[in-house]
Amino acid sequence: MTPFNKPYMTGNEIFYIQEAHANFKLSGDGPFTERCHQWLEQHTGCNRALLTHSCTASLEMAALLLDIRPGDEVIMPSYTFVSTANAFVLRGATPVFVDIREDTLNLDEKLIEAAITPRTKAIVPVHYAGVACEMDSIVAIAERYGLKVIEDAAQGVMSTYKGRALGSIGDLGAYSFHETKNVISGEGGALLVNDAELVLNAEIIREKGTNRSQFFRGEIDKYTWQNIGSSFLPGELIAAFLWAQLQEAEQITRQRLIIWHRYHEMLRSLEDEQYLRRPIVPADCQHNAHMYYILLSPNIDRQVVLDQLKQHEISAVFHYVPLHSSPAGLRYGRVHGHLANTEQLSERLIRLPLWVGLTENQQDGVVSALRQSLGVAS
Ligand SMILES: *Cc1c(COP(=O)(O)O)cnc(C)c1O
Repeated sequence: MTPFNKPYMTGNEIFYIQEAHANFKLSGDGPFTERCHQWLEQHTGCNRALLTHSCTASLEMAALLLDIRPGDEVIMPSYTFVSTANAFVLRGATPVFVDIREDTLNLDEKLIEAAITPRTKAIVPVHYAGVACEMDSIVAIAERYGLKVIEDAAQGVMSTYKGRALGSIGDLGAYSFHETKNVISGEGGALLVNDAELVLNAEIIREKGTNRSQFFRGEIDKYTWQNIGSSFLPGELIAAFLWAQLQEAEQITRQRLIIWHRYHEMLRSLEDEQYLRRPIVPADCQHNAHMYYILLSPNIDRQVVLDQLKQHEISAVFHYVPLHSSPAGLRYGRVHGHLANTEQLSERLIRLPLWVGLTENQQDGVVSALRQSLGVAS
């Protein structure tokens, strides 16, 4: 069986965990967390990076930090993971779902302006497959209407837009280090704070609403309850694991890109013969090969193809069930306009196995099984 994903480990994770063990510092914000923070700040150019338990936690922090309240509206795609919407629904806000672009499956920047109302507080672009949204347009709209931009860059670690790291372009950015992403710590994430004015409050919200971070830096002589907050920081064992991964983030990305480009070449003829469409990456976007997906032609039954792949021992998957059509999305969200691309493209998409260590042999097996599933002679 060729699995859909297999977490890659550098081998150094266990040594750093041993070091954290020997440090007798197991709670958060110890030396390994500090190393990860510095790495993220240097590699993304964000003002302040803060490790969290997950991208979900980072998005929840963002909603608290921007004081999102009941009645507020937040513009986002429906074609995304549930956490993008949940974080704001938890604050009583309404997700306003806008359609995606046909080429990148990212939020269609041309549809955002018409979805803005006096209640709109923020825009949440999701960088699908690690390919950037059209950030110049999105930031310009946000500035014109006084809105905040929170990048859901869960899939975007090591990707750039016009040379800038994803997550470092909006007011806030959220990363994921979940096992299924490129750079991992099991569960894990980071909040990138780009707006300098938000840094202090971000630290407070992350540390149970206290100014303990300032206390540890020696800036104040006792710490007290300052604001609402929660516990969003991971312990040092997680940070130690992540540190090993961050040190190899460039090699991981390089190896994933090799596999991605090999799929892209191998699937060209199936695109020419109109069985499928391959991913489209705009020229301004350097991506991180988070995902290789195909969009089957509308006349092909996806379930049949997935079943056939399974019979060939290939584990391929689809996602997402659009949020606007899910039970909670119907209850908590609002749709702006028609979500034709969201509905049509999400039903045609298949993700192929892509992980560091996938051999050329296995990859050949995936492509040949796909050809057979489509009834094409290989
Ligand atoms: C994975 C993912 C998340 C959630 O990340 P966690 O770290 O598991 O909380 C959120 N948004 C998108 C787009 C994702 O792909």
